[in-house]
Amino acid sequence: PKPEENGAIRPAEDVDKVEEEDKEDRAAQSLLNKLIHTNLVNTTSRVEVLQRDPNSPLYSVKSFEELRLKPQLLHGVYAMGFNRPSKIQENALPMMLAEPPQNLIAQSQSGTGKTAAFILAMLSHVDPAQNWPQCLCVSPTFELVLQTGKVIEQMGNFYPEITLAYAIRGNKLERGVKVQDQIIIGTPGTVLDWCSKLKFFDPRKVRVFVLDEADVMIATQGHQDHSVRIQRMLPKQCQMLLFSATFEETVWRFAQRIVPDPNVIKLKREEETLDTIKQYYVLCRNKEEKFTSLCNIYGAITIAQAMIFCHTRKTAGWLAGELSRDGHQVAQLSGEMAVEQRAAVIDRFRDGKEKVLVTTNVCARGIDVEQVSVVINFDLPVDKDGNADKETYLHRIGRTGRFGKRGLAVNMVDSEFSMNILNRIQEHFNKKIVRLDTDDLDEIE
Ligand code: ADP
Repeated sequence: PKPEENGAIRPAEDVDKVEEEDKEDRAAQSLLNKLIHTNLVNTTSRVEVLQRDPNSPLYSVKSFEELRLKPQLLHGVYAMGFNRPSKIQENALPMMLAEPPQNLIAQSQSGTGKTAAFILAMLSHVDPAQNWPQCLCVSPTFELVLQTGKVIEQMGNFYPEITLAYAIRGNKLERGVKVQDQIIIGTPGTVLDWCSKLKFFDPRKVRVFVLDEADVMIATQGHQDHSVRIQRMLPKQCQMLLFSATFEETVWRFAQRIVPDPNVIKLKREEETLDTIKQYYVLCRNKEEKFTSLCNIYGAITIAQAMIFCHTRKTAGWLAGELSRDGHQVAQLSGEMAVEQRAAVIDRFRDGKEKVLVTTNVCARGIDVEQVSVVINFDLPVDKDGNADKETYLHRIGRTGRFGKRGLAVNMVDSEFSMNILNRIQEHFNKKIVRLDTDDLDEIE
């Protein structure tokens, strides 16, 4: 255990387990987000555009027709149920489809239409009469490659002359083979093997290079290096496109190595606020008392749907069990579940099939379940050093300005350590968290 900010000692509970769960890779998060975002994410933020040449006109389109897409592609877009370009697509598509080709770095949160945009750009640039790879897309994992590949196939559904090859582990081609598909999608290591050692295709003939999920890419050992090596084999005039959900300094540096002379498009995440949230805390002595308090809260108010956050898998599992025994229909998200299983759990919860969702931090990061009115922090959020994790707190409890409904948050405090975390959070947001007596719940609601 490490000393906390003001000397309180962090309980020794499963510190190692938490760390292990924290390492759960970003790629799984990213795939989960893709699987649960079957629609565009709402956003009121403005798109920021930085043009390589600030004097050139800035184009933006409000319809897909304005892009003069090939009819087969327009058909594909409409068949997918897209009516008009998303916010980021309004600017990104004209830029990517311009002649001569322009390079682009684009950042926006998951679910804002980045993937659909670059797929449309790749499909538009392909010459179906040429039977060699012209577009190359790298993505961080096997699963993400398959997911993106599926969307390419879907969007190209009415353009059967264009075909796709998967450069992923397990997809072994015979020595000496030349890939004839116009698009290759794969993980960096295998793509690099295909174009260097194995010579399955000629990188000098590639006209569009897409690097997807740059933030996930750099978090994975080796990917950054492989990506740079691939990029160096491509011709100068090849169009380079890079996408990322987040934009830390490290991502930006990597992006600049991959994409020379870029245009940059950014869409800020919707700001989250605690203004419309009533925040409470309850004092308990241990997890059993926390559970009793939780039951009291459930007995006192009508809760449409609640999300309950626990620190470890063990606690989450225990709590889910207790709640079920108490007659609740409980959904549980846990790190050992496959991403597809997690996506299914979230879908069921969204549809209201279960009213309570118990989860650990890691599993729920980045997931927006907008209709949830009550959030319970069964354990307060702490970072890996045991300090108050304010960002996670805000993300769990906070609502985005325009779409947010009113909400209720209850924090369970069971030690000096967690009281200290609570105080830090309270100070940081300068918003009072009110003590709640769960034996007398008249004040709530
Ligand atoms: P990102 O790559 O930013 O995570 P996606 O391109 O995967 O976003 O889009 C998120 C979801 O929205 C997907 O289900 C996609 O099919 C859908 N989508 C993308 N663009 C549009 C659009 N213009 N209109 C409607 N839905 C769209």
